[in-house]
Amino acid sequence: PNRTLFAKQLRELKQSSRFKSEGLIAILCLDLDRFKLINDGLGYQAGDRILIATAQRLQANIDSKAILARVGADEFAIAFKTLEDTTDVIAVAQKLERELAIPFQLREQDIFTSVSIGLALNRIDEDFQPEELLQASHTAMFKAKASGKSRHEVFATKMHEQALKRLQLEADLNQAIINQEFELYYQPIISFTTGMLSGFEALVRWQSPTRGFISPGAFIPVAEETGLIVPMGKWILETACRQMQEWRKEFPQAESVIMSVNLSSRQFAQPDLVAQIKEALSTTELNPGNLKLEITESMVMNDVKNTIVLLNQLKELNIKISLDDFGTGFSSFSYLHRFPTDTLKIDRSFVVNMSQGVKTREIVSTIVILAHKLGMDVIAEGIETESENEILQNFDCEYGQGYLFATPLSKLDATHLLAQNKTW
Ligand code: C2E
Ligand code: MG
Ligand code: MG
Repeated sequence: PNRTLFAKQLRELKQSSRFKSEGLIAILCLDLDRFKLINDGLGYQAGDRILIATAQRLQANIDSKAILARVGADEFAIAFKTLEDTTDVIAVAQKLERELAIPFQLREQDIFTSVSIGLALNRIDEDFQPEELLQASHTAMFKAKASGKSRHEVFATKMHEQALKRLQLEADLNQAIINQEFELYYQPIISFTTGMLSGFEALVRWQSPTRGFISPGAFIPVAEETGLIVPMGKWILETACRQMQEWRKEFPQAESVIMSVNLSSRQFAQPDLVAQIKEALSTTELNPGNLKLEITESMVMNDVKNTIVLLNQLKELNIKISLDDFGTGFSSFSYLHRFPTDTLKIDRSFVVNMSQGVKTREIVSTIVILAHKLGMDVIAEGIETESENEILQNFDCEYGQGYLFATPLSKLDATHLLAQNKTW
């Protein structure tokens, strides 16, 4: 089928879906990357064979009801109906990307190809012109090519802006992992007793070439939902461990500095978490005693029994554990003493409100007492003012973290700080 037939079939699909109100019509526009190279290098006959093989591969990997056509020289279009949940559409695009990355065999030679995919979506209950929708997918495909081949981009018409943004974020996030657009920053944690640096918290940053700086609050939840947090979390863990070991080798004063790494709930639920951590430690040669994992109340309260087993396994390795954002989740006090946690981090929201009322100060001092009774030390998060600092030190809180001391620092700035042997 060519472009004309595709448009005709798309009109028919539109007609047949007229009375349905839910779902989307998705169009994928696929363009082979470097096809000209194959034509020029191996001849038109070889080019033709690749085109036929591509069409066959596409046909084999799409739903039987989907419409497939060749709409340009090395360009294919696929149209299908899908649910409102756009993850399905992305999954189809990703599958085709993978399938077409498998080399073609031609004259006993492996020919490597890749595709750029543009994606256009239209709600079934909203009117559209087939040609316009195809054009939109074409535009998106060009955008995908322009921003580096072998990827996909989304172009949606008449869709909720929110859904579109989210979809594009997922696609970009996926690409960001491949392109290694993440960077770790390190925020100092200060000992109140010595005034010295006692640790760093590794905080991930995404510097996107198209979006600029994106804060973890905006992309960690998306990475969680899509599962991208798993490869990302591995990278974070290993990078933080490697960095800490580098600093320990370079600076004697970094010997006993502890690197804290945040774990997300999805990572925490991974059956091979302990193995992953062991591997990160062994490849980076970091002493387990220099690693602390930050988990949240909701993560441990989800499945108390298994969490205790898991945390004990981590403790056996001599890794430390922090309970992050304490006070914002739903801790059950009856369980708290059963978790082998070393540190409790008082959430910033309490620290901020301390100056506003006696009650919050009372809560904070009570949390510190509770932690001490349970054998944990305390880090207060988000200290911004001298007066907050003073109150917390009077409460016998051991450690502080916040802009008053230092913001999260790039690797370079954190290295400078170690070199200066700064105290507070
Ligand atoms: P968190 O683990 O509670 O990290 C502390 C957050 O408070 C950081 O925000 C830090 O920049 C910010 N902060 C520190 N001191 C101050 C202060 O004095 N004032 C204010 N206003 N903020 C302060 P960030 O880096 O934006 O991270 C937000 C959250 O995203 C983190 O909260 C953590 O839950 C998550 N996150 C960050 N990096 C990672 C990561 O590598 N892995 C995972 N799973 N989650 C991460
Ligand atoms: Mg944290
Ligand atoms: Mg926190």
